[in-house]
Amino acid sequence: MSTIAQNLKQLTSKLPTGVKLVAVSKFHPVERLQEAYDAGQRLFGENRAQELASKAPQLPVDIEWNFIGHLQKNKVRMIIPHVAMIQSVDSVELLTLINKEAARVNRHIKVLLQLHVAKEQTKSGFTVDEVLKAAAEGNFEGLSNVTIAGVMAMATFTDDMQQVASEFETVHDTFIKLREMKFATPEFKEISMGMSDDWPIAVEHGATIVRIGTDIFGAREY
Ligand SMILES: *Cc1c(COP(=O)(O)O)cnc(C)c1O
Repeated sequence: MSTIAQNLKQLTSKLPTGVKLVAVSKFHPVERLQEAYDAGQRLFGENRAQELASKAPQLPVDIEWNFIGHLQKNKVRMIIPHVAMIQSVDSVELLTLINKEAARVNRHIKVLLQLHVAKEQTKSGFTVDEVLKAAAEGNFEGLSNVTIAGVMAMATFTDDMQQVASEFETVHDTFIKLREMKFATPEFKEISMGMSDDWPIAVEHGATIVRIGTDIFGAREY
């Protein structure tokens, strides 16, 4: 069995049933992704539009591509034909544009609202106040070609696991608030959080999707 297949097997045996695993394949060549595919993996995550658009046509069509990085508006059109889900929606403008571009090519896209809960200013996403305000103002309504399926977040990059846990707790609380306010639908069900270093804590706090790169593919060479 290849190392990638072994890593996947080990991870999936530890993940509770019902928690989905997105294999974060950024910076890895398509051959490595194919190995993961051959081991049964179907969900893949990329964080750069160009890279996703170039890899997708080289790999099997039943892969569900997830976009997980900061998405510039001028790159939306490039990824829409390929993605099943955009996890990193960080503004109402971006959401509106995704809806428009999806409608243009007759696609339906699932999206997650990215929450900014980490300490680093470089990370993007709605603050908790912003997302609740946008929901209250009806900014997430009337979108024919997107389904808002939940929230996504990254914790602060730190060894302080208590800090990480409290950020995941905030994400979970905000998910519940949004669901009560606006999204009392079965489609609003996903909490995407947890990476190689912190996924067990994320799962403890209600993650339904974890996004793992290094623990599957090894270290990235930038
Ligand atoms: C790279 C990345 C991951 C995976 O990180 P690892 O530490 O390699 O598991 C998860 N989420 C996002 C948004 C990423 O950019």
